[in-house]
Amino acid sequence: MSSDITPWRERALHDSTLWEDFNALCDFGGRLAGGGGDSLAVDWAVARLRDAMGSRGDVRRLEIPFPGWSLSRASLASEAHPDRRWRCMPLLRSASTGPQGLVAPVVDLGAGRPDDFSRMANQLGGAIALVEHEYPFSPDHVHRRRKYDAARAAGAAGFLIANPWPGGGLMSGSSGRAPDAPGIPAAYVDARTGSQLRELINAGAPDVRLTLVGEEERNATAGIAIAELRGGRDDWIVISAHIDGHPLAESALDNASGTAVAIAAARALAAHVGSDTASLRIALFNAEEWALAGSAHYLDSLSTEARSQIRLNINLDTVAGDETLTALTSGFPALEPFLRACAAQAGLDLGVWLPLMPNSDHANFAKQGIPALRLVAGFDRPQSRVRAILSGDDRRELAKPEELVQALALTGEIAERALRSSTESLRALADLGTLAGKHEGQERISSLNVGGPSAERPPLA
Ligand SMILES: [Zn+2]
Repeated sequence: MSSDITPWRERALHDSTLWEDFNALCDFGGRLAGGGGDSLAVDWAVARLRDAMGSRGDVRRLEIPFPGWSLSRASLASEAHPDRRWRCMPLLRSASTGPQGLVAPVVDLGAGRPDDFSRMANQLGGAIALVEHEYPFSPDHVHRRRKYDAARAAGAAGFLIANPWPGGGLMSGSSGRAPDAPGIPAAYVDARTGSQLRELINAGAPDVRLTLVGEEERNATAGIAIAELRGGRDDWIVISAHIDGHPLAESALDNASGTAVAIAAARALAAHVGSDTASLRIALFNAEEWALAGSAHYLDSLSTEARSQIRLNINLDTVAGDETLTALTSGFPALEPFLRACAAQAGLDLGVWLPLMPNSDHANFAKQGIPALRLVAGFDRPQSRVRAILSGDDRRELAKPEELVQALALTGEIAERALRSSTESLRALADLGTLAGKHEGQERISSLNVGGPSAERPPLA
């Protein structure tokens, strides 16, 4: 055991490899699961984790199945003005149109909130619903997949979702459609295309031809990296991050940032795992962008006993892109005082948001009753650099070294405190007893979260 009492922030500042690792991950490109870059990145990460943990560590690459899918054709054009064509980015696992495409009128639903769908309900049958993407890390946003579900429920034949920010480019995201499940063709368009489609609707020429042809990849697998350092007992603290991303850019904020910090945490914490501490596991998941498939498979593959030994999941996803950090605590109220003490020790401000947000791998841990948090930058800051995630702008220039440093400092504090905690104290983190809003300002939070962390909520990655 190290007797080093240097504050975590000090240690994080001196890890020059953190920024190098972040850049190395960006060098692998967008790291779409199954795209090749993800696999190279996992091999690289396994080597980095072996360096970090030394001979005491057990570092493995595992292959997990995931519902692979690939796109062969995508196009979008006006029927009245066939020379007007636009680029579109099909949602992952979108349903296909026929080879001739789908010809239908576009109906403008504005942002695509529930009242927009109610207002336009009688016009959506057989039409293509046009909605806007929203900043995903805010209390009241409506996720792309909820809008897609609303369009399907209203009988729409297709779904287009536009980048809402002026000049904003194409984006990428999952449709959430399971293999062989029904669905409607769905794609992102850029901000300019969204405006031009609205102009055509207003000019009385709303018909477009949308062609999307994709294929199932039935035996697809993706690599994940699991690194373990055994302490004195089988209480496991799991730091996770997803290594995969989207093809449009470098998936830098989402999630080279979290992956680099997880690897740096392994390096920094190795000396703090000993016979008098709990055990440390680093899990670098894949296929997170495919409705959290990688972590779901990994957790399902563990024995009930092994799952029950996981005391805490610290999930790092998009930890740069803004100077603010928030812990999404998945409906586990006991995490808040624990995390506040860690943040105070690290000299950092930390936001805490209690309701479960099923927007990253922590949601799969929470579903198993494991106290789980996601650290995220820019919560409720829609003008922050974080809004570039999923787009062609998610490149390394958007991150600042000091943002990675503070995420590492906080992760180190949280993990070390957890590693040093007794089994009993760690078990208490799962306590739901204080759910009724005891803290100032938590009444609304609690009312949003009446179902608790175990309530069934589909993943919204
Ligand atoms: Zn992510």
